[in-house]
Amino acid sequence: MSAKLIKGTVIREEILEEITKEVAKIKETHGVVPGLVTILIGESPASISYVTLKIKTAHRVGFTEIQDSQPVDISEEDLLALIEKYNNDDSINGILVQLPLPKHIDEKKVLNTIDPDKDVDGFHPVNVGRLMIGGDEVKFPPCTPAGIQEMIIRAGVETSGAEVVVVGRSNIVGKPIANMMFQKGPGANATVTVVHTRTKNLASHCKRADILIVAAGVPDLVKPEWIKPGACVIDVGVNRVGEKISEKTGKKIAVLKGDVDFDAAKEIAGSITPVPGGVGPMTITMLMKNTLKSLKSKLKIA
Ligand code: NAD
Repeated sequence: MSAKLIKGTVIREEILEEITKEVAKIKETHGVVPGLVTILIGESPASISYVTLKIKTAHRVGFTEIQDSQPVDISEEDLLALIEKYNNDDSINGILVQLPLPKHIDEKKVLNTIDPDKDVDGFHPVNVGRLMIGGDEVKFPPCTPAGIQEMIIRAGVETSGAEVVVVGRSNIVGKPIANMMFQKGPGANATVTVVHTRTKNLASHCKRADILIVAAGVPDLVKPEWIKPGACVIDVGVNRVGEKISEKTGKKIAVLKGDVDFDAAKEIAGSITPVPGGVGPMTITMLMKNTLKSLKSKLKIA
């Protein structure tokens, strides 16, 4: 058997198209578009490349976008003041501070300074709390877990009553996706188990999963014999395992591998996400969705 591929690259296009149409409609009826500011500290190539992609996507869907680049030695006080400036700027609906931050800046303080109603990354404790309460309380689900849930829904995978096993308990993926999957609502209502580095007999837990979500950051951690035949496998892992020359650009690029032994797993799973091209493209897409949601909530439209 060969599993159905759940492609983030395809689902991204569908969602970005929907966002573009909605933005055009709001512009026509209300005369405004969503505004997103990305604050980039320093010049780390990885951060620059993420921010560039975020800006490109924001442009594509018709947002107003500000890229605010600051020197690596900006003081914590100045950064907090900058965030306050955007908190008070009516044209900005989403504030994103690209992580990681330089060591002299307290990341927690920075994230906690962002107005929870503009925290489109969903990392502010208020939004984490709203996620835990669930239902209408949820304002901004964190982007990677939101992307995972959206992929499961759009792939037509039944979640109600399903056994979901989440490998990993990080604040940005494992904990929030586990929480989202057991809430009441579409793409949820599942029975969830979270496994981690201290879990005994990881394989036996994974083997029970109708939906297996793996976010460990360990290449090929999940073996084919850990997968229940027909299960939906969501591989969040992005592991750089080498370098190669790109056929498109002739430049050196990273060779990426997921946390699941893909070639073997696809013969057992019912559906599976590839790496790259699976969960990866969904994160920025859901950031756009959250920014649009922020404007809609301000305009009090559904
Ligand atoms: P993390 O390192 O913060 O957390 C990893 C979790 O996995 C930990 O809770 C740990 O307990 C668990 N874990 C690690 N090794 C394990 C093992 N051998 N057995 C059982 N559990 C184990 O990582 P993260 O930020 O959650 O990211 C996880 C992976 O997902 C990484 O590869 C990361 O690059 C990727 N990621 C991708 C996206 C995206 O595609 N958009 C976004 C976020 C993270």
